Amino acid sequence: MAGLAEEENRQGMSLPPQPPDRDQETERYRQMLDALSDLGEAMVVTEAGKMLYCNDAYERLTGYTFAELAARANLIELAPPELQADLTRRLADRLAGRVGVEHAAESQLVTRDGRRIDCEFSIRMLAGEGPNRILGLIRDITPRKQAERALRESEQRVRAVVDNVTDAIISFTQDGEVLTLNPAAERMFLCDHTHLPALQVNDLVAEGSRAQFSAALAEWVLGDAPSGPPREAVGRRQDGTIFTMEYALSPMDVEGGRLFLATMRDISDRKAHTEALEYQALHDSLTGLPNRTLFGDRLRQKVLRAQRRSATFPLLMFDLDRFKDINDSLGHEAGDLLLEALAARLAEVLRESDTVARLGGDEFAVLPDGMPGPADAITTAQKILKALEAPFEIEGERIVTSASIGISVYPDDGDDAASLVRRADVAMYAAKRSSSGYALYAADQDRHAAHRLSLLTELREAVSAGQLVLQYQPKVHLRSRTTVAVEALVRWQHPRDGMLSPDNFIPLAEQSELIRPLTRWVLEAALQQARAWWAAGSRIQVAVNLSTRNLHDSELPAYLADLLRANGLPAEVLTLEITESAAMDPEAADRLLPISNLGVNLSIDDFGTGYSSLAYLKRLPVSELKIDRSFVMALDTDADDAAIVIPTIDLGHNLGLSVVAEGVENEASELMLLRHGCDFAQGYHVSRPMIAGALQGWLESGEWPLAPLT
Ligand code: C2E
Ligand code: CA
Ligand code: CA
Repeated sequence: MAGLAEEENRQGMSLPPQPPDRDQETERYRQMLDALSDLGEAMVVTEAGKMLYCNDAYERLTGYTFAELAARANLIELAPPELQADLTRRLADRLAGRVGVEHAAESQLVTRDGRRIDCEFSIRMLAGEGPNRILGLIRDITPRKQAERALRESEQRVRAVVDNVTDAIISFTQDGEVLTLNPAAERMFLCDHTHLPALQVNDLVAEGSRAQFSAALAEWVLGDAPSGPPREAVGRRQDGTIFTMEYALSPMDVEGGRLFLATMRDISDRKAHTEALEYQALHDSLTGLPNRTLFGDRLRQKVLRAQRRSATFPLLMFDLDRFKDINDSLGHEAGDLLLEALAARLAEVLRESDTVARLGGDEFAVLPDGMPGPADAITTAQKILKALEAPFEIEGERIVTSASIGISVYPDDGDDAASLVRRADVAMYAAKRSSSGYALYAADQDRHAAHRLSLLTELREAVSAGQLVLQYQPKVHLRSRTTVAVEALVRWQHPRDGMLSPDNFIPLAEQSELIRPLTRWVLEAALQQARAWWAAGSRIQVAVNLSTRNLHDSELPAYLADLLRANGLPAEVLTLEITESAAMDPEAADRLLPISNLGVNLSIDDFGTGYSSLAYLKRLPVSELKIDRSFVMALDTDADDAAIVIPTIDLGHNLGLSVVAEGVENEASELMLLRHGCDFAQGYHVSRPMIAGALQGWLESGEWPLAPLT
């Protein structure tokens, strides 16, 4: 359509606005266009760009009047200036037949009031009318264009978001065919659009996670899945490496069916971090073993599993027998090292699948794997005890330790975690009294345990509230028939239960720290009493019983020295009775020499009930051996007892010790002992234990007067 432009240049632009001198033509075109006007389209007829005629709709569209339009040299001027050249060229193309006539072109025009409107126009050569005559149809498409622009803008915004988010976003079909990947997805899975045609969403998920991923997808395919929290899966990159990811799925209904969007995020870092935190929260930092919280969790799970299967399983709990002493004497660091070493030994003897936990302090728990019975629990307990037999080498010290293991069994001893723990704990205290080192829970231990607790609280007060009293039982020299000493025996004047014998509370005190103040009270009371007797002229010796635990107290020798000095008594006045088993305890034995060096006498009590090695006994700085009353009480009638007692007398003498028989209940026994050379006797036949005030009278009236001064 070079013609139109040329024409325009040649004459259109130079001519002044033409008056309507073409009335006839105008009239023709009016008739023609009006006939078409029910189409409502704006129409115009031009010749070389100049308007010959336009209809009302064209006037309305442009805002110009017919006259104003007719006055223009070229209608192309209605287009925005920057589009005019382009529009001119397109018109030319069209008129030259290079573009299909029917094809509508889009452009813009500026209305009289300055608005830009989008329009679509189609033109038709009116060849029969004249060389450069054109019929133009112009349609306002502004609303559609605006909508398109809005859509494009919003698409661009969405695109920008999708392209820039750090989450991977992929879309895929119901069949799992991946349609799009955003840049984050390309980076995350190490793939790009070149993988696309064949890429399946399952290729992005590691094999182990596929079933679960497909199940999550199926929920959406089948219906509207609830939008729960994101789920986790193991993602798979195109190079085959894997990582933990979090994903959310959502359906997208589009023309032609349902698509899916998956938003995925690599959470391996976060997961590693939370796992580390979780680990810390659930494990003991010293030993790395599960802590109380995790153990509680495992135990509850185990209860549930056992419930479902109607199975049974044991719970073992134990603590170290002298841990506090070790901590006190060697320091907390050594204590920590011991616990670490202990954890390592446990790991050696137990299976990896067993749960071993440190509940706190020196308290441990074991939950054997599977559903073993009580017999297996005992085997496990024995394994643990055996593992502790060899001494621990801590900071150059050899530490000997042992444990007491309590066992409770689901469901006999409890059908929930709390009662199983409580009962294993009860059994643990029973284990402390047993020689095997372990005990299965038994209901009567529980009564005992409840009693024990309240008793322990009361006993603590009894020591300071002056409820303890001492009674004294004479020890007599058989050959000279004189009294040489008394043994102080403690009683508890209980405000509610009356006078309690030591068997009711000493074992309890021995299991706690309470034995220390209790023993000190006895020692102080006994020495004060001795001082009073000595002041009154009765030079009598006093024997006091010690517990093994007292001998672990490194301050004991110094304490004794101070106490003797404070009472102005020679050390020889005091005899300390220690049991055979205490004498065999290496740490306790270490304490004997400094005590003996003070001048205090040491006596092995309850002899015959333990398993002492004679060679060992020989090396101890003891001077006396007390044959246990269980062998003596029926000595006169029981040949077996005699067969033990008589050689023991000789044994003691051979070791250079004086021999005491306690529990002498009748004259026949007394005579037998005398005949076989036993040095001293103690027993109801001589005297029952008595209060201090009764001693003087007994000494004066009885057959056993105080030994004369030597
Ligand atoms: P033990 O040291 O063997 O004390 C002797 C026990 O035998 C005393 O019992 C005494 O009353 C009893 N007994 C004395 N003669 C006879 C007799 O002829 N026949 C019978 N059947 N028994 C006799 P008790 O006073 O009940 O003391 C029991 C145990 O309590 C003591 O046994 C001792 O191991 C412990 N104990 C007593 N007082 C103390 C104390 O102050 N400290 C410590 N650590 N233990 C103590
Ligand atoms: Ca004794
Ligand atoms: Ca005894």
